[in-house]
Amino acid sequence: TAREAFDDGRWSGLGGRERSRILLRVAALIRERNEEFARRESLDVGKPIGFARTIDVPGAAEQFEYFATLAQHMDGAVRETPLPAFAYTRREPHGVVAAISPFNFPMILTSSKLAPALAAGNTVVHKPAPQTPLSAQLLAEVLADAGVPDGVYNLLTGPGAELGDALVRHPDVDAIAFTGSTAVGRVVARTAGELLKPIAAELGGNAADLLFADADLDQAIHAVINSFVFNTGQFCMAGPRLLVERPVYDTVIGILADAVGQVPLGRPSDESTVIGPLVSADQLERVDGFVRDAASRGGRIAAGGRRIDLDGGYYYAPTVIADLPNDAIAVQEEVFGPVLTVQPFDTEEEAISLANSTAYGLAAGVQTGDISRAHRVAARIQAGIVWVNTWGLLDPAVPFGGVKASGWGRESGPEAFASFTRTKSVVIAVDGD
Ligand code: NAD
Repeated sequence: TAREAFDDGRWSGLGGRERSRILLRVAALIRERNEEFARRESLDVGKPIGFARTIDVPGAAEQFEYFATLAQHMDGAVRETPLPAFAYTRREPHGVVAAISPFNFPMILTSSKLAPALAAGNTVVHKPAPQTPLSAQLLAEVLADAGVPDGVYNLLTGPGAELGDALVRHPDVDAIAFTGSTAVGRVVARTAGELLKPIAAELGGNAADLLFADADLDQAIHAVINSFVFNTGQFCMAGPRLLVERPVYDTVIGILADAVGQVPLGRPSDESTVIGPLVSADQLERVDGFVRDAASRGGRIAAGGRRIDLDGGYYYAPTVIADLPNDAIAVQEEVFGPVLTVQPFDTEEEAISLANSTAYGLAAGVQTGDISRAHRVAARIQAGIVWVNTWGLLDPAVPFGGVKASGWGRESGPEAFASFTRTKSVVIAVDGD
């Protein structure tokens, strides 16, 4: 079991350098088997195959490459004190980590937990989303082939809520890494709190993108479209709330309404597809419900706003909704589909206040030609990551995570590695003369 595999030291006892070598082999095998992984990911999520090949699979490999390096730096520190003692800290793994991942980026969000957890010497029990278990099954094979000992990675597939809850409560689970919706995150965090287990919670998002009149419009529109159609809008860091400075408000809506119709929508297996289907019938209903509600609240549907009939799949046209009041559900809640709401603003102050006006705080964007404004606004936005003149650039070295209802974990970067370890202080008496 994961408990035995941790306690007998078959993994943590290898030492960071050996773990690092094995994790690099994992990365190499993921790259070698790119096509198999990509097909599974595309089949499971409905992801366009081209993105699965070039983003999801290499993105997962990069997580292992990055954290393999950090595995060799589980360094403590010597602390100078006035005590008659020598004091130092050690970084130690938590033990057995429960990793719970969502449906939208199965490989990347599994690897962003597994790679740092394993690098730090933990063992892992992983529960993927019930809709999307296929890539994790292949990953289990790859981990074994790379030399990760038996019992170090354990895969649980089955009904999400029951299995997830049992996993979080299991007495052998020492820490939890959860990515999913805010609603489920609250349930998991409540249980973890009751049992006093450390938990990293990466939850829902509803990011605002602030487009100022001084922005390079071509570049900004490109970033905006990318921000809400990527992964068919099923992206926790999507930017579904566009705030536009009033002088360019109508122009931007006009350009967007024309441009989104040109984005290739089609079968996930088609090489040219950018927008595939949503993951499930439920998700399609949900997205359509948000759009119907927006229309009934006075929203002007400038593009899309309808299902697309193709092979009986869960397709939805990229949708742009203007003129909604700020308290509309489609503005305040996470839609998780290819839907963009557009609101005007008059001042920088108002833009910041609108951006910060939802419960969430995962990501944000600032499109501006004024570098001082970029710094000023980035500092005042309540979010874990702010993109300036782009959208969605992520890297294993750059931490991301939320504030407010978007949670408090950080994935990627040394911050993520640290969260899979804990600090122990050792204080050794030193006799005086
Ligand atoms: P979800 O909350 O429905 O499920 C997430 C995971 O939790 C799944 O594995 C699910 O089976 C499991 N689960 C369900 N009930 C549980 C319970 N009671 N106890 C323990 N585990 C339980 O989310 P989803 O629909 O798979 O994913 C979409 C959501 O994830 C969106 O809200 C999105 O914003 C969020 N997300 C956040 C990030 C981030 O980094 N912050 C990244 C991706 C997705």
